[in-house]
Amino acid sequence: MQTGKIGVTTENIFPIIKKFLYSDHEIFLREVVSNAIDATQKLKALASAGEFSSELGDLTVRIFLDTEKKTLTISDAGIGMTKIEVEKYINQIAFSSAEDFLEKYKDKAEALIGHFGLGFYSAFMVSKKVEIFTKSYQNGAEAVKWSCDGSPEYQIETIEKEKRGTDVVLHLDDDSQEFAAEDRIEKLLKKYCKFLPVEIGFGKEKEWKDGKQLETDKDKIINNPKPAWTRKPSELNDEDYKNFYKELYPESFDEPLFNIHLNVDYPFNLTGILYFPRIKNNLEIQKNKIQLYCRQVFVTDSVEGIVPDFLMLLHGVLDSPDIPLNVSRSFLQSDSNVKKISSHITKKVADRLTEIFKNQRPDFEKKWDYLKLFIQYGILTDEKFWERANSFFLFKNTENKYFTLEEYETLIKENQTDKDKKLVYLYANDVDSQYTFIEAAKAKGYDVLFMDGQLDSHFISFFERKFAEKHFARVDSDVVEKLINKDSKLESKLTAEQQTALRPVFRSVTPEKNNFMVVFEPMNENEMPVMITFPEYLRRMKEMSKSGSFSGYYADLPDNYNLIINSNHPIIHQILQQKDESVGKDVSVLEEKVSPLEVEKTSLESLHKDKKEAEIPQFEKDRLEELEGLIRELEDEKESVLANFGKSNHLVKQLIDLALLANNMLKGEDLTKFVKRSVELIK
Ligand code: ADP
Repeated sequence: MQTGKIGVTTENIFPIIKKFLYSDHEIFLREVVSNAIDATQKLKALASAGEFSSELGDLTVRIFLDTEKKTLTISDAGIGMTKIEVEKYINQIAFSSAEDFLEKYKDKAEALIGHFGLGFYSAFMVSKKVEIFTKSYQNGAEAVKWSCDGSPEYQIETIEKEKRGTDVVLHLDDDSQEFAAEDRIEKLLKKYCKFLPVEIGFGKEKEWKDGKQLETDKDKIINNPKPAWTRKPSELNDEDYKNFYKELYPESFDEPLFNIHLNVDYPFNLTGILYFPRIKNNLEIQKNKIQLYCRQVFVTDSVEGIVPDFLMLLHGVLDSPDIPLNVSRSFLQSDSNVKKISSHITKKVADRLTEIFKNQRPDFEKKWDYLKLFIQYGILTDEKFWERANSFFLFKNTENKYFTLEEYETLIKENQTDKDKKLVYLYANDVDSQYTFIEAAKAKGYDVLFMDGQLDSHFISFFERKFAEKHFARVDSDVVEKLINKDSKLESKLTAEQQTALRPVFRSVTPEKNNFMVVFEPMNENEMPVMITFPEYLRRMKEMSKSGSFSGYYADLPDNYNLIINSNHPIIHQILQQKDESVGKDVSVLEEKVSPLEVEKTSLESLHKDKKEAEIPQFEKDRLEELEGLIRELEDEKESVLANFGKSNHLVKQLIDLALLANNMLKGEDLTKFVKRSVELIK
């Protein structure tokens, strides 16, 4: 037996490493198992190069857990090591690279968070002693045992070992007993080793026999050595891709929409399969599903910084040896290879979508509702993606027809350009509650888009920023005549005085909890007599502040509506007549009282017009003030006469309720009252 001292200068780096890497302890298994896989792969490579001519035999890598002795053994039939190699690779290389690593990151613990692996050395994170039993594939090689208890001292001796290959035995440390549990190890193997390229056995397959579960002598293989992404796309069909999706996400019930098989070898190496999931709502929940591998070794499933934000919504696998793994996350984000990979993926995703759109448009349309959110997210966050996506982005109208941006523009250009040459896109976000408005717009020959998505309002702002001459208006933001302003105003059949008289009549009956502005609008006789609209600008402000893009001021405002009175509708004229019959006299009396006061006020005002403040006699000022007060009183009285008429008039109430009903705003007690009143009216 020979002993030696490992060539490290730091007296005892084990405890330091242990402490530093605390959160990542579990990666030891991946490191030791991937070494076993590498050794096996190397042997296979030698065999195919004709440098190894003996029997390869069973190459399965096996993991044994002894829960009593608290040891974990990783056993391979790979190339093994000679004594010289152990000294070189284990004592010098493994240890010195660990030391380098430590030297580099000693002062910045957080940099270690992004680290991925320390090789063989990481075994000491969980072990109080590590032993290697190994026999090289080379003819006549002597087997050796190396052991080290965590101090820089090691022992090495020659031993008898029948089989070629290496057994690494980890004697689990007292504070790492959690790894002496079968289910824990199985979970870790499934997480880190699921797609390693050589079969890995952990335990034996079980089988039901005579009502009992018995162990067979067949290895329970925990990995798939040839996952779909390592195969050629031409070898795979749709079913294979779907099956691989299930393999990746056994808990998911959804089927993905499409997949992209990536296969790049220049200027960097990248393979993988990405899936488009079905996304209807909620962007957050979907993130971080992509798994990152480095030559089939699982690295991480948190790919932030490696792929653009919106691509994190995709599912699947990326595998690249060119992504530097032993670095921190912030370094990763600025790495030029990572940047190239990231823009390559964006391009590929856009290419694939273009291809499906071009070749399978009906299918693309069918899936659009699930794709839209993803594509909008990409457009809003990545200018490059917009440049490509604008050719396959689809608008869907309220009749469930789909159009590209270009097709849609052609469709509406003639009819929906306003007097300022702006193209107006009409949209609805609720087909039921905006039904009347949609129908009115259609009757005018307009088309109405359906936009109810989580990102639609952001997309609209984006679109309007991009194209100054295009503009969106929600279909209920104004009466149809004014949605698209064409300068072809109808004559109003109500005079300004009549409107002034009717305003308090209607205002007296509007619901109190929101702000209603009474507006008269000359429309066609066959349109509704009264309508309620939501001015686009105020509504957007409110929506934006709700979604956090603005500070809270607008969010706290009450909803602002316009109560639009169709000044050409016969019923309105009927109400006008009823008003005259019922309170016309009272109003005239009040107006007659006001009239001489107004005359006096106007004459005083014209007298004062060219005078300076100091030149006006005080008694005249006092009289003017008095007149204003009297007029105001009489006007108030007139208003209240009109308001009382409005409140007592069934028609007015009925019309406003109908307008509320058309907007889905009539509820509860008010709805019940409306129904009762309607029955009264038709009795
Ligand atoms: P890396 O694997 O990154 O080279 P490690 O510290 O994990 O670094 O391992 C150091 C070296 O020890 C390996 O390169 C390999 O030559 C050797 N080695 C480790 N495990 C085995 C094994 N199971 N069989 C053969 N050689 C091994």
